[in-house]
Amino acid sequence: MKKRTFKGGVHPYDGKELTKNIPVETVVPHGDMIFPLSQHIGAPAKPLVKKGDYVKMGQMIAEAGGFISANVISSVSGTVKAIEPRLVPSGEMVNSIVITNDESDTTVDGFGKNRDYTKLSKEEIRQIIKDAGIVGLGGAGFPTHVKLTPKNEDEIDYVIVNGAECEPYLTSDYRMMMEEPEKIIGGLKVILQLFDNAKGVIAIEDNKPEAISLIGEMVEEEENIEVYPLKTKYPQGAERTLIYAVSGREINSTMLPADAGCIVDNVDTVISIYMAVCKSTPLIRRIVTVTGDAVVQPHNFNARIGMNYLDLLEAAGGLKENPEKIVSGGPMMGMALSTVDIPVIKTSSALLCMTHDEAAEFEPSACIRCGRCVSVCPGHIVPQKLMEFAERHDIEGFEANFGMECCECGCCAYVCPAKRPLTQAFKQARKAVMEKRRKKA
Ligand code: SF4
Ligand code: SF4
Repeated sequence: MKKRTFKGGVHPYDGKELTKNIPVETVVPHGDMIFPLSQHIGAPAKPLVKKGDYVKMGQMIAEAGGFISANVISSVSGTVKAIEPRLVPSGEMVNSIVITNDESDTTVDGFGKNRDYTKLSKEEIRQIIKDAGIVGLGGAGFPTHVKLTPKNEDEIDYVIVNGAECEPYLTSDYRMMMEEPEKIIGGLKVILQLFDNAKGVIAIEDNKPEAISLIGEMVEEEENIEVYPLKTKYPQGAERTLIYAVSGREINSTMLPADAGCIVDNVDTVISIYMAVCKSTPLIRRIVTVTGDAVVQPHNFNARIGMNYLDLLEAAGGLKENPEKIVSGGPMMGMALSTVDIPVIKTSSALLCMTHDEAAEFEPSACIRCGRCVSVCPGHIVPQKLMEFAERHDIEGFEANFGMECCECGCCAYVCPAKRPLTQAFKQARKAVMEKRRKKA
């Protein structure tokens, strides 16, 4: 079978052996639950509850605050304790609904009820997905109902399920592909119902041969669904590299995947679509990998959104020793954390605790013009040159040299022998450009 790929990329140590063969465990939440109003790209959600209100599991507690925004659903039953700023994984204080969990899991009416998606119209399916508060769970947090409403739905010819999971250490998508493949195929069928001319592709890196053969066998009889094996290479799962590997089409920062005829959703997002549409269960949980050499028993957990990371760490047996570095997400694209006393949010994919911080062991030095960063950049840009503009805070120069084509994958910084903090500098510069554009708009 043809294995697809893209130009550039790296092969970092993947650390997946720590958790890939351990079944997902469900963790029951205790104590206060925190629901930030911004867990997605776009406008913050607007609270629908106030202090003292009783809420049920599955109840919408905040509604989308604009076209690009998402509802927030309570993952427990209990009483609203406060609406106040709380620390979130990005390190920011975000206005959040705090609910004291009564631990009875009293649900809203109709929660969990079976529903036949083939009897629903396209509008009904999109509305259910919107109501369920679903956003891209692969990390971006883009509201899914918006993604599934492109300008011209007839031009969509690929619906791609992103099963690459190229980020080192993360195995949550792999475990779901092995444990709940029928929900992934079911969710894909729901999405395909929205696009009359599309074919479904489940794209999986070839370091997951068991998932490729399991799902491949299950879709053998499906006329409109195929499994595409991808070469294992980071960042294979980034939207642009994945679209190129699957369809041969290229997109840039000014385009959406739909402009290239593609809709891309990651494995857990597709499962969430299946659960919302076919099982009347909104987005109240996600799978989180808790891993790293500092963790006693690395695991994947089925975690309720809003619960504290500390509870997941405790379920993983705690820490063997004090970690030098804690990251929310994977080592390539994740955010360093100063505390784990923060809530699991919709975009929380992993908690990585490492005894050594390799990056802190080296002092950056001057560029030796080796060109390695150029050869690995999947964005076909010249990181070494881009760095000159980022360091000088020359925002115009950064933009003119394709800085916005950077997907912040970290490949350039990973291979740089001078240990230059390329990606960190690009992140800052990209933020400054976005800010400038926002002000101008
Ligand atoms: S410049 Fe951006 S896209 Fe290119 S390798 Fe570096 S982080 Fe990745
Ligand atoms: S990899 Fe590092 S040292 Fe080599 S050209 Fe790029 S920035 Fe310079």
